Amino acid sequence: MQNIRSERVVIIGGGIIGLAHALTAIEAGCKVTIVERNSRPLGASVRNFGTIWPIGLAFGSERNQGLRGVQRWQEISQAAGFHAESCGSLSLAYRDEAWNVLQEFAALPEAALEGFELLSPGETLKRHPLSNPNGLKGALFSPHELCIQPASALTALSAHLASIGVSFLNRACAIKVHDDAVELSDGRILPFDRCVIAAGDEMQILFPAELATAQVRRCQLQMMRTSPLEQRLGAIMVSDLTLAHYPAFQRCPSITALQSVLHDTMADYHQWGVHVIAAQHSDGTLTLGDSHEYGQDFTPDIWSHVEELVLQNLSTFTRLPVCHIESRWHGVYLKSTIGETQVVLHPRDRVTMVTAMGGLGMTLSWGLAEQTISSWTSPSLSPPPPDAHNLLLAEP
Ligand SMILES: Cc1cc2nc3c(=O)[nH]c(=O)nc-3n(C[C@H](O)[C@H](O)[C@H](O)COP(=O)(O)OP(=O)(O)OC[C@H]3O[C@@H](n4cnc5c(N)ncnc54)[C@H](O)[C@@H]3O)c2cc1C
Repeated sequence: MQNIRSERVVIIGGGIIGLAHALTAIEAGCKVTIVERNSRPLGASVRNFGTIWPIGLAFGSERNQGLRGVQRWQEISQAAGFHAESCGSLSLAYRDEAWNVLQEFAALPEAALEGFELLSPGETLKRHPLSNPNGLKGALFSPHELCIQPASALTALSAHLASIGVSFLNRACAIKVHDDAVELSDGRILPFDRCVIAAGDEMQILFPAELATAQVRRCQLQMMRTSPLEQRLGAIMVSDLTLAHYPAFQRCPSITALQSVLHDTMADYHQWGVHVIAAQHSDGTLTLGDSHEYGQDFTPDIWSHVEELVLQNLSTFTRLPVCHIESRWHGVYLKSTIGETQVVLHPRDRVTMVTAMGGLGMTLSWGLAEQTISSWTSPSLSPPPPDAHNLLLAEP
């Protein structure tokens, strides 16, 4: 076991991946500095739904990381003083194929101890009266998922980290990572024993060739938030489209039939990569989305067509009053072209580049941070020599 106490750790990026690494490293006794380009995190970590979402993760090491994420978010929300609601998730099925997927998922051997509940339409409506009864075949309730307000949670988490000794250099842009120091655009040099690059979708700016080995592409999502609603959803709600989206359900035999029927009957949704999540926060507001547009860069447009698709689909599985849309925004993340959920690269000795890909980084962040810090202390998990680009493949 290598002793990393008192080592200087410089973290580039103050999003959730950077903050999770900072807390885990300071708990291991390191001296931690976070370098953030903006005055506060403004990337994917404050633009997401705020769902901590193990239900989206395949059983195995990824799901365990997700469940660890739930546990850490609960602990940290108490220590840092922000709200993390243990509301669980409700996956509603409106097609026979979707209902088959949910039943197959609940019958998987790994599901036995998870506390999932298959609900009849009557039970669903009794427990979640804002579900849409028209055509409802049934639903799966999962107790694990949490809902947080990402921007306020990150503000509270950053303040908590500062209070326990993490140094923040905000409005500081890292332009080069040398063997033992980070160079900032204003000329400052920050020496390190270990460096973590947690620059989210902008990772390629520092090590473009290394990131190219990881087979990732950028993905832009369109999101919106409603004004506060008095009624409570009682769970994060999704339906048929979302089942086809996440890795968790890919093992269910009926997933192919579901994907095929969605492809044939919802071409415009397919074209824009729209699936719909409704996440309600403690102030009553709902975050709604999303769409998926792929490319190196994107136009700044917020598309009314996408918004209409999201709201139209929302009305098929909820019966919410007409909502006023208070704000709209884009978020960008890296997405794997080979189905991975995380990328961990070592462009130099003692330098780790890390991000979660796709829409699961809030969920995976704490598990990823623990994985990085234990690779520093445990020789068996130590990084490969310089030049060897190591993509840690997640389990299928
Ligand atoms: C619309 C949307 C919805 C999502 N929904 C969910 C969800 O509900 N649940 C879930 O688990 N995940 C969700 N995700 C995924 C999750 O938000 C991301 O995986 C996660 O936030 C990535 O965190 P990060 O710290 O790697 O990146 P970021 O949050 O983008 O942080 C990177 C930071 O690095 C800084 N930076 C970059 N370059 C430099 C530099 N050179 N010098 C200094 N600073 C630099 C940036 O300013 C930024 O603050 C969603 C993502 C999006 C876009």
